[in-house]
Amino acid sequence: MLIPQQQPYNQYINDCLLKKKEITLAVKREDLLHEHISGNKFRKLYYNIIAAKEKDYDTLLTFGGAYSNHIAATAAAGKEYGLQTIGVIRGQELGENLEKTLKENPTLAFAHSQGMKFHFVSREAYRHKTEPEFIRELFRLFGRFYLVPEGGTNELAVKGTEEILTPGDAEFDYVCSAIGTGGTIAGIINSAFPHQKLLGFPALKENFLHKNIQKYVNKNNWELIRDYNFGGFAKIDIRLVEFINMVNTLHNLPLDPVYTGKMLYGIIDLIKKDYFPKGSKILAIHTGGLQGRNGMNIKLLRKKMPLLKI
Ligand SMILES: *Cc1c(COP(=O)(O)O)cnc(C)c1O
Repeated sequence: MLIPQQQPYNQYINDCLLKKKEITLAVKREDLLHEHISGNKFRKLYYNIIAAKEKDYDTLLTFGGAYSNHIAATAAAGKEYGLQTIGVIRGQELGENLEKTLKENPTLAFAHSQGMKFHFVSREAYRHKTEPEFIRELFRLFGRFYLVPEGGTNELAVKGTEEILTPGDAEFDYVCSAIGTGGTIAGIINSAFPHQKLLGFPALKENFLHKNIQKYVNKNNWELIRDYNFGGFAKIDIRLVEFINMVNTLHNLPLDPVYTGKMLYGIIDLIKKDYFPKGSKILAIHTGGLQGRNGMNIKLLRKKMPLLKI
């Protein structure tokens, strides 16, 4: 079983904009659950690891991009629980000179240090990763393994993310979460109180998330807010960097550039635009992912842009 290093708590934000608009905003610090298996990845792996152990698997196999929080978390969880891990990584070129890749990529370097084995595949092949043919080939190469899908989303992951909200969270009118594959918000939707409205902030340009989420939920008290993906997955601009650094300095709240930074930017912008009625209480879920800042800083350095403060 995964054991939390620290229990999450709700960090209330004090800010003159919030006072002026008469809005309460708190951030649920799920990022504190575990240093290396952070936030929603802890929740999503939790019941999957129990299932893998129960069924006597000794290996987890999963999929991800080269800076994936899920890859880093799965590698760390495997190490902690004595399960071997295999990461099917998008980008064949990364496998051509592994030493160089590990030098340049902090996420893969970390996963490697936790004992994860990599299987690099081309972007084209990666697109077929859910097809039976592709999976059969993986079984042929690696033998028996417990398959965790990309981003970690499956039924057991949603069961885990249903444990993010607690009875104390009933005071909130809105609950907000960043979205990648939708597994996290699906659990939050399922466990939300009837009076609550769920707002999901996709971190990517997409038109499939609504369907993906609907597979796991049977309520319609939720909405996707698609205006804050900053041009696509892992895209960033100077406004976002400055916003994340400001929040870190003013509120002692570290955000990641791919998910939580964009979500909170969106929430603040919506507050400015009076989207929320006066007196609203908003809970934003900090889904973790702070390891992604290191890789992003390498990209920012290359573009001669200001860096994220860590
Ligand atoms: C993976 C991740 C998400 C996306 O979660 P989904 O369940 O795939 O929607 C959100 N925030 C952070 C920090 C993540 O690492």
